[in-house]
Formats: sequence, C-alpha cells, structure tokens
Amino acid sequence: MVHANKITIAIDGYASSGKSTLGKDLAKALGYIFIDSGAMYRGVAWFALEKGLFNERRLNASALIAILPEVTLHFSTDGSQALILNGQDVSVEIRSKEVSQVVSEVAAIGEVRKKLVESQRKIGSRGGIVMDGRDIGTVVFPEAELKLFVTADLETRSQRRFQEMQKNDAAATLQEVKENLLQRDDFDTKRAISPLIKAEDAIVFDTSSISREEQLKKALQLVKTVLGHEG
Ligand code: C5P
Repeated sequence: MVHANKITIAIDGYASSGKSTLGKDLAKALGYIFIDSGAMYRGVAWFALEKGLFNERRLNASALIAILPEVTLHFSTDGSQALILNGQDVSVEIRSKEVSQVVSEVAAIGEVRKKLVESQRKIGSRGGIVMDGRDIGTVVFPEAELKLFVTADLETRSQRRFQEMQKNDAAATLQEVKENLLQRDDFDTKRAISPLIKAEDAIVFDTSSISREEQLKKALQLVKTVLGHEG
C-alpha cells in the first residue's frame, strides 16, 4: 500500500476521543488527504431523517436500503472538507443532536457499510491518506502501515463534543452529550457487522491529558518510525 513513501494511516476509537482532530493535524503536517468516515455515516443518517424513515426513532431499514442508490456523497476539495450529499453541503446538519441519536443504527446496516466502505477504499487507494472511524484498521484498510486506536476518558470526550456542538448551535446539555456517547459506544462495539474493536496491530493512543501539539508530535514520531522501516 506504500506509494512513493506515502503511507495509509488508520485511526479508530470511541466517540469524541479526539480522532478527527489528530487525523486532521497529521494529514496537514504530512500533506496527506484526511477523511472523517463518521461524517459519511452521519450523512446517510441525515438523509434517512429527511426522507422520514424514522418512526418514533425506529428506522425503516428496508426503505433506506431501497433508496440508498440515490445517495451520492463526497467531500469538497476546496480545503473546507465540507460533506456534500446529493449536491447539498450538509456539514452543519450532520452534527445535530437528532443525527447523533440515530447514526449508530444506520451504521449497523450491512448495505450502508458496504456502500461507504467501497467509497472509502476508492478515496484511499493511492495511499497518502489519514482516515478516522470505527473499522478503518480492521475492515477498510487492514493493510494500513500505521494504525492508531485513540482513547480518552469519558469526561474529556463529553466536554469536547459538547463544545463542538455549541459551536454549531446544536442544542444539547452536557449530560445528554455524555449519554449519547455512551449509547453510541455501546451500540458500535456490540453490532454484528464490523463492530468497533482495536485492531491487533493498532497502537493505543491516549489523548486525555496531552495537548494537541504533543499529540501531533507523538504521532509524527510514529510515522517516522514506520517510514524508517519502509526505508
Ligand atoms: O466519528 P463519529 O462519532 O462522527 O461517527 C458517528 C457514528 O458513525 C459512530 O457512532 C458509528 O456508529 C458510525 N461510524 C461507523 N464506522 C465508521 C465511522 C463511524 O460505524 N468507520
């Protein structure tokens, strides 16, 4: 998977553990592409909500599977990393409380995963990519040269997601955010298809008590070691 020394970096971990921040910083420092795969699952969940496929939070899975071919997703290439779904920028909408509440159910559907994994592999086929999610090191890129499994304590994770939601004007209390993280982690680790699990060869990377700068420094050191071995 190495192309002119450009490796594939897979970052997995629990909700709001700091995966995307680290991934973005790493990609920027290395001149790689960064893909937040969770945004893609959120996009499909938003689409299902828009189409009225939830009845009292119960998803009509077969109806979603039937209209899945209508969904086109891509990230804008203007540097903003906006998620474009069927031509519409839904970057703000996908961070809402409503989407957070239903996304794990949508992500548990095999057909949804198949479609998104295919597109993720296509984006990453040339290496030089940092992708974060739940199954990147285990399913999407099992051959990735560097795999990180990011962790952080629950308090830190809740505060992070709460602040991010406030920035986007998504009304939710800290307690609601905390409960949602726990629910999603529970659902994501227990689902039948591609559950969240640390890949055997992933390095555990705790972001709770180290600064963003230190995280980047530490991760770049790991990249350097991998590149040294690739020689
Ligand atoms: O990363 P984020 O928390 O935004 O992801 C939202 C949800 O999308 C997760 O809770 C999980 O259910 C799903 N997801 C997934 N596989 C991925 C990325 C995200 O199942 N690779």
